[in-house]
Amino acid sequence: MKKVLITSILFLFVFYACGPSSKNETAKWTQNLTELKSLQTKYPGFSSLIEEKIKEATAIYNSAEQIKEEEQKAQKMRDANNVFETGCIGKLKNISAKFDAIQKKQDDLRKARTGQAESDISYSEVVLKDVDKAVKQLKNTMKAVPSSTICDDFEYAYQNLVYAEEDIDRAIQNINDKIQEKKDSSTKVDAANNKKIEDAKDIKCEYCGTFNAPANTKCSSCGAPIKKE
Ligand SMILES: [Zn+2]
Repeated sequence: MKKVLITSILFLFVFYACGPSSKNETAKWTQNLTELKSLQTKYPGFSSLIEEKIKEATAIYNSAEQIKEEEQKAQKMRDANNVFETGCIGKLKNISAKFDAIQKKQDDLRKARTGQAESDISYSEVVLKDVDKAVKQLKNTMKAVPSSTICDDFEYAYQNLVYAEEDIDRAIQNINDKIQEKKDSSTKVDAANNKKIEDAKDIKCEYCGTFNAPANTKCSSCGAPIKKE
């Protein structure tokens, strides 16, 4: 039992601590191929481009399999896997994560704007609509039929979505800045008020305990000087 534990800890250590391993990269390769095959079915317009990527990556992967030295082999396999992360196919492969992230940001903006000024709310509405539009346009390019420009069209729409996403970030930041400003100024007002209250308090005489008006310099009861802090 102890042996198993030590072995699995060692395995985890090797798994995470040391760069790529051929075992990990092999698993990733299999997963990538499955993913790309399903992308081909889902987005037929990109099917031949995906086929090209697979060919390009397979050539690298096959050359990796010839390498005896583990570290070099794993690195080469990683190179093969990384082919799938580049260009428009790379973006297409990771598109659902992108959409999820953007949806989350939209929700964040809706939350942030609640209770804010009318101008902030109406501006955020514009930003949210732009994002919806950019998402829709990008989805349209994903559904397009095969063409020589499909990759460029997709990348162009993708970039527009990135710009719209940056607008959300800025809108959230602006609202948060305003909230912070309000907080800061109300802290200042509170501090000023507290000082006024403090200044207006009657002062207790150190000697006889009589409370004296703050304007008094001498105790009204015993005549001792009033110490002001
Ligand atoms: Zn006194």
